[in-house]
Amino acid sequence: MTWHGIGFHATMYTMKLIVTGIGDAFSALHYGSSGIIDAGSGLVAIDCPGAVLAMYRAAASCSGVELGFNQLHDIILTHLHGDHSNGLETIGFARRYCEEEGTRPRLHALPEVLDRVWEKLAPAMDGASQGGTLSTLEDYFEPRPLDPEGVVRIAGMDVRCRRTRHSIPTAGLLFCGAGGTLGWSGDTEFERAHIEWLAEADCIVHECGGHSMHTKWEELDGLPAQIKSRIRLIHRPDDDVDHGGVMKPLIEGEVIDIGG
Ligand SMILES: [Zn+2]
Repeated sequence: MTWHGIGFHATMYTMKLIVTGIGDAFSALHYGSSGIIDAGSGLVAIDCPGAVLAMYRAAASCSGVELGFNQLHDIILTHLHGDHSNGLETIGFARRYCEEEGTRPRLHALPEVLDRVWEKLAPAMDGASQGGTLSTLEDYFEPRPLDPEGVVRIAGMDVRCRRTRHSIPTAGLLFCGAGGTLGWSGDTEFERAHIEWLAEADCIVHECGGHSMHTKWEELDGLPAQIKSRIRLIHRPDDDVDHGGVMKPLIEGEVIDIGG
C-alpha cells in the first residue's frame, strides 16, 4: 500500500495458505488434504488428518512458517472422513495435557458434523478425569457450529460455508481476509453451483479425487479459463497422471499468498 503525497510506504499484510497435506484417503505418499491459514491474527487449520504433528513439522520445515499445535486456536472441519479428521484425537490430547494452560481450540463444523464428532472420538477420549466423571467433547474443544446461511468471524476473516455433494455431510468454505479471498471446495462431486459459489475467490483449492463422490479432472477442465486460472488441485490419487494445463496441483509445504 502506498500513500501518495506524504512519501509514506507500508506493506499491507495478505493472508497466506500453508499447504500441509495434498493426499486422498488412500495415499501412501502424502498427508491428508489440509491446510493452515495464517490470517495475520492467528493460525486456522482446515481439516485435521492423521499424523498431524508430523505433518505440521514437515510443512513448517518446507515453508519456514512456525506451525506448533499450541498456536492453533481454530480448527475448521469439513467432514468426518478419517483422512480429514483422524488428527483430532492427537490435537485434543496434546492441548489438554501437553500445555501448561490446557487451552481448548475452537472446533468449527456444520451442526450435523459436530453432532457426531464425539461418536468418533469418545471411545478413545471419554476416559474419566479427576472426580470420576467421563470427559466430553467440550473438555477438549470449544464446538462452534457453522451456519450455511451466515458469516462467522474467525481470526479476523469472514468465513462462509456451503454444503457439498459427498457421501456424508461435508462443507466447502470461503475465507475473506486481508488481501483477498480463499475458496476451499471440500470433498465433493463436481457441482456447477458449488463452483459458482467459490468463483469470487482469488484462489480456489478444489479437490480432484477422480473416484465416485469426488470431482474428475475432466469436469474441472471444462470450466471457463478465467475460473481455471485460479484453481489449484488437491486430494488427487497417488497414481493420477500429470494432466498439464493451467490448474496446477498443490505441493505440501507450499505457501500461497492469497490475493498477493
Ligand atoms: Zn471425504
